[in-house]
Amino acid sequence: MKQSAVVTGGASGIGLAVAERLLDDGWPVAILDADAEALTRAEDALSGENAIFLTADVTDEDEVAEAFDEVVDRLGLIGGLVNSAGIARDVPAEETSAELFREILDVNLVGSFISAKAALERMGATLSIVNLASVSGLRANRGRVAYGASKAGVKLMSEVLALEFGHRAVRVNCVAPGPIESPAIARMHSPEDRKRWLGRVPQGRYGEPEEVAAAIAFLLSPEASYINGHTLAVDGGFLSAGLIEER
Ligand code: NAD
Repeated sequence: MKQSAVVTGGASGIGLAVAERLLDDGWPVAILDADAEALTRAEDALSGENAIFLTADVTDEDEVAEAFDEVVDRLGLIGGLVNSAGIARDVPAEETSAELFREILDVNLVGSFISAKAALERMGATLSIVNLASVSGLRANRGRVAYGASKAGVKLMSEVLALEFGHRAVRVNCVAPGPIESPAIARMHSPEDRKRWLGRVPQGRYGEPEEVAAAIAFLLSPEASYINGHTLAVDGGFLSAGLIEER
């Protein structure tokens, strides 16, 4: 039987593009999200496909366990997991409360760990996990003290999982997107923010969710069978850029 794929945060943005791409690639896909209304919209957009839609908060171990059990019952053992559920805030360190810091770590880092464990406990013959890191977890960006720390943690967590499970037919990798045109970014980036980011991206534009989904689909697939513990930037050249000419 074909193994299933789970996409957390699959009702919006990058996660939704990943779900569409994996369905096109022939995976049975479970789309898991905390936002029930967004899930209904995703269901309308993907109707008729080989997909199921489940409401769960990735910070809640019981809800995640219940949802993953349902995935196995309805779609089969798990062969792919994409952890795209995440929250982002752009807040200076001085204005970041301990409560906000904990909330961001809880969703982005602990939530990805909870889902990874749930998938490992229900895996088929092989399992490939792709976690959403960020360029803000690899470089210090203003306003990203909690978000950046959570994404740096996601990268390191992925490397430890890749190490501990490498001999058990499990691969764990990350993609680190730069600025991507998603609903989250539409809410968060002012025209000034967009100008600042564009000034640092050699390709001179934001990426599309589908461009991140293509990298994730590759890492998830057997084509990437010897890639493990890697973080692939999908950032238009942001991380490698030095001086950029005036635009
Ligand atoms: P988005 O807000 O469009 O989608 C995120 C989804 O996650 C939403 O549907 C939301 O309901 C869901 N979610 C949030 N908290 C959840 C929880 N506790 N449990 C279950 N679902 C939850 O965001 P996006 O821009 O598509 O980002 C997706 C991922 O990519 C995030 O991890 C984000 O940090 C990362 N990322 C995005 C960008 C970018 O520029 N868009 C850049 C770097 C990294």
